[in-house]
Amino acid sequence: MALLQISEPGQSLDPHQRRIVVGIDLGTTHSLVAAVRHGVAECLPDLQGRVLLPSAVRYTDPALGGSGRQVGHDALAAQHEDPGNTITSVKRLMGRTRAQVADVDRLPYRVVDEQGMAVIETVAGRKTPMEVSAEVLATLRFRAEDSFDDELFGAVITVPAYFDDAQRQATKDAAQLAGIEVLRLINEPTAAAIAYGLDHAAEGVYAVYDLGGGTFDISILRLTQGVFEVLATGGDSALGGDDYDNALAQWVLAQAAPAQAAAPMAAADRARLQSEARRCKEALSSPEGQAEGVVFGVALSVGVLSHRVSASDLAQCTEALTQRTLSAVRKVLRDARLTTSEIQGVVMVGGSTRMPVVQAAVGAFFGQTPLNDLNPDEVVALGAAIQANALAGNGNGGDLLLLDVIPLSLGIETMGGLVERIVPRNSTIPTARAQDFTTYQDGQTALALHVVQGERDLVADCRSLARFELRGIPPMAAGAARIRVTFTVDADGLLSVAAREMVSGVEANIDVKPAYGLSDEQIAAMLQDGFATAQQDMAARAWVEARVDADRLLVALRSALQADGDLLEPAQRQAIEALMQRLTESLQDPDPSRAAAIEAATKALADGTEAFAAERMNRGIQQALAGRRVQDV
Ligand code: AMP
Repeated sequence: MALLQISEPGQSLDPHQRRIVVGIDLGTTHSLVAAVRHGVAECLPDLQGRVLLPSAVRYTDPALGGSGRQVGHDALAAQHEDPGNTITSVKRLMGRTRAQVADVDRLPYRVVDEQGMAVIETVAGRKTPMEVSAEVLATLRFRAEDSFDDELFGAVITVPAYFDDAQRQATKDAAQLAGIEVLRLINEPTAAAIAYGLDHAAEGVYAVYDLGGGTFDISILRLTQGVFEVLATGGDSALGGDDYDNALAQWVLAQAAPAQAAAPMAAADRARLQSEARRCKEALSSPEGQAEGVVFGVALSVGVLSHRVSASDLAQCTEALTQRTLSAVRKVLRDARLTTSEIQGVVMVGGSTRMPVVQAAVGAFFGQTPLNDLNPDEVVALGAAIQANALAGNGNGGDLLLLDVIPLSLGIETMGGLVERIVPRNSTIPTARAQDFTTYQDGQTALALHVVQGERDLVADCRSLARFELRGIPPMAAGAARIRVTFTVDADGLLSVAAREMVSGVEANIDVKPAYGLSDEQIAAMLQDGFATAQQDMAARAWVEARVDADRLLVALRSALQADGDLLEPAQRQAIEALMQRLTESLQDPDPSRAAAIEAATKALADGTEAFAAERMNRGIQQALAGRRVQDV
């Protein structure tokens, strides 16, 4: 008799019943693909057993034939012989204009703008950042399909928490070009937390400390009832392992060859120093390096440099860098109104968190040992794979709901060029928020809506995202229409705005897909600016509001005088006109600190016209009642 077969837990009987889904970490320097197999997340290697794919694409001359491009290790190997056609760090160009890419002139390839977007000139023609990223993504897709011998159903792709709409959209477009169905974009820190299974951990607040080669990111997540929410994000986009290499190289020079330390140095020597510093730094992370130190040895054009470096030397000469990361952590905690004692766990991400000195400093700062037993290079891809598995319905656990935050407030322009914030910064997404607005003038039938992003009170100081119009509002008195404006930010961080006049039901909406994004530096600068100028903005807002109120009163009064001016004695009319004149004069004053004067003149006019308003009301009632019996009313 044949024995009945029983499958292994997590492995279905028919592999085709299972949807093949993966997590992809699309990184600046390298990318990875991971999947859940037999209930365990693992990174998928290439045929040579390598899991890291350099995010590099080299384009070759089409006249030479061949596939026209090399991707990954081959591209990187060819970079020194063909730097102008070998594209690395393309993530920095995604959803940006040329001007928004920091240090664009230092890139070895040529970047130009085309249709409001940075593109790269290559021997094979202009390539968009999406096309270049699509080559990397397609390589990972084929790796996954080879490894499962099946077609890919979809992928969860990770993006930095600070990526704005344009950058997220560019990432989705790249995936589409690569023939990948995006199940969801998720933030890198959120993926790392999932990889550590924190979604099944005790409820509370967790920190994700991500120190890579060139950047530092810190994110604060809160877990409630199995739901993740990113409370705040921050960091330093120009601080990473490369700076530790630099600091060590400078320190060794100062110790062993002080004369060289100050002198200008040939580029080749600098490169050798830097790479020896990196080797020593990494060797010092091992237990042997910790115990015995290492010898820093490099042959420069001016002679051989050799110096013994101990773990505590490295700790000392990089102390300031580690402290800089902790200052950024402090700032984010302040943003989230949290103290270190409220942080339940700390996740370490990025190659530089392998440094014992960084682990010790982070541990001391939070008063607890950070979680670092997963490979810090793989942890983001692993978390994305777990999320993809759950979204595809392959997981046995309940669905994981992910919430991220938006980096800058979103709002709408109101009268006088003021911003009404609708979705405040650090709000969790997905989100939908609504606010009611009204018309400014009698008989107004259209409304110009201007969507802006930023922390400042004046539209002029914020970034314009989109403009659209709501038309067909039935004519009503000023202030009678009720227009509900709803901002919806989806799980991928993409914004749509709808406006609806509640009485007539007329509606207009727009999807905000800005042609370009903001750099981290710009976001940081806008935030900084917002904090620094809060006082000044408050005064400016008060001034503009006072002017708008004054204007509204003057407009209303002029039309009242025209309609019912006959109710007034000449002396009364003169008194009102004098008050109107005084208010008009106060509006001429260009000094924004003088809101109080306008407010006082507005109040005087409002008080001075109270009797007139009462008379008008009586006349209105009499007219309404004329010829009607009390019983009919
Ligand atoms: P990532 O961008 O996350 O791959 O991080 C790369 C950075 O991690 C580089 O600056 C590396 O020098 C650094 N790194 C990798 N391994 C180690 C190690 N064992 N000790 C110290 N730094 C490391």
